[in-house]
Amino acid sequence: MKTLTQGIILKEQNIGERDKLITALTQEKGLVKGFAKGAKNIKSQNCAGTQLFTYSRLCLIDSRSRDTYTITEAKSLEMFYGLRKNVEAMCLAQYFSELILNLLMEGEKNQDALSLLLNSLYLLSTGKRTPRLVKPCFEMRLLSICGYMPDLTMCIECGEYNREGFYFIPQNGTLHCINCTSQESLPFSVKMTLGVTTALRHIIYADDKRLFNFSLNDEGLDTLNRATEKYVSAQTDKNYKTLDFYKAIIGQ
Ligand SMILES: [Zn+2]
Repeated sequence: MKTLTQGIILKEQNIGERDKLITALTQEKGLVKGFAKGAKNIKSQNCAGTQLFTYSRLCLIDSRSRDTYTITEAKSLEMFYGLRKNVEAMCLAQYFSELILNLLMEGEKNQDALSLLLNSLYLLSTGKRTPRLVKPCFEMRLLSICGYMPDLTMCIECGEYNREGFYFIPQNGTLHCINCTSQESLPFSVKMTLGVTTALRHIIYADDKRLFNFSLNDEGLDTLNRATEKYVSAQTDKNYKTLDFYKAIIGQ
């Protein structure tokens, strides 16, 4: 059976001298693996369309080996050129890719995750938003899409909504106000100003079109990134090599 779809290449592995095995997040089939014959050859029509972080029109054919398609056509629609010229943005894209590969099941359609990734790569590629702002948005939004949505409406203990600041507990995805925070939970929590709390709430509750439309000062962005990284690590119970690499590149 033949499927025509569009998708973004998240992983490419060379197979021998000429061929590639790619993993893509597609509109029709979610995450798929596909074998692209001859795609390493730069003269091949499918060479550009199977490159990492290219958004392509793909023709997938069911193959005999159960979980791998054969890709007969890969036509590049968007290459995100800006990513390829910016090491920081490229490393962040690698982290986004690792998160998606870890959180999504193969074959499960996820239009929201695909839109989030495309929007994030577009902003990184064009430089319209900084990596420090795109990263926490992507992390929290992807986790929410995948069933790990935190509850940031109010203090979980007393219902206080608008205090000067809150403690975010990544293990539970909840907020504690200053009055309700116990000494024991302090080492496991992230202290946030009301500005950072508001930004985190915005990321979780804003509609897609407004997701990246907010600003924070440098200190606020540092705290926000710390909170979202801890949330990812606590909820998915995993450390990400690509995140370590990204942080080494930016000197953290
Ligand atoms: Zn409270």
